[in-house]
Amino acid sequence: MAKYTGPVCRLCRREGCKLYLKGARCNSEKCAFYDRKNVPGSDPKARSRKKASGYSVQLREKQKTKRYYGVTEKQFKMYYDTASEMRGITGENMLTLIERRLDNVVYRLGLGVSRAQARQIVCHGHITVNGKRVDIPSYLVKVGDVIAVKENKQDSVMWEDVKQTKNLSVVKWLTFDNTTLTGTVVALPEREDIDLDIQEHLIVELYSK
Ligand code: SF4
Repeated sequence: MAKYTGPVCRLCRREGCKLYLKGARCNSEKCAFYDRKNVPGSDPKARSRKKASGYSVQLREKQKTKRYYGVTEKQFKMYYDTASEMRGITGENMLTLIERRLDNVVYRLGLGVSRAQARQIVCHGHITVNGKRVDIPSYLVKVGDVIAVKENKQDSVMWEDVKQTKNLSVVKWLTFDNTTLTGTVVALPEREDIDLDIQEHLIVELYSK
């Protein structure tokens, strides 16, 4: 399926939850769901009117997760297939694989306000991994990788806020020096490091039908 290029707020409405696809705007009053009471699906009366089938609940969970990370169906299925061949819990393996994508890492380091912006930053060649330019958003980072903003892009106004932020905190499997705009992968992500509201077992149930 082709990548969705329409208005992203519509996707939040479709999934009935905030997907945080627009950066700072998502935490401001400009977000249509700033008042959480307005999130479609949060009204118990409305929910009880039409009970979703097991299949549709599983499908929505998969769509929501794809949209969080901005990956296509083909890519998402590939993560599932890879995860199912790994040792451990398939759902957790799948999420931790996706979490290791370079565009997600750039977002987690705070270099992009949303995953979509982070992906653009990677695609435009602003990021290096271990000193080499990498412009592939799906590149999977590994322990010890050093992710940095390219030397000749370090002075861009784009990073001013990041450089000025004091005590900038990032997820525990990454470290980040905001003066040099350089991050390091110190561990592989674990399920508990992923702060997204995802019930991955529903996705596994859907794919294993
Ligand atoms: Fe979703 Fe962000 Fe739009 Fe709010 S502003 S509806 S969270 S994309």
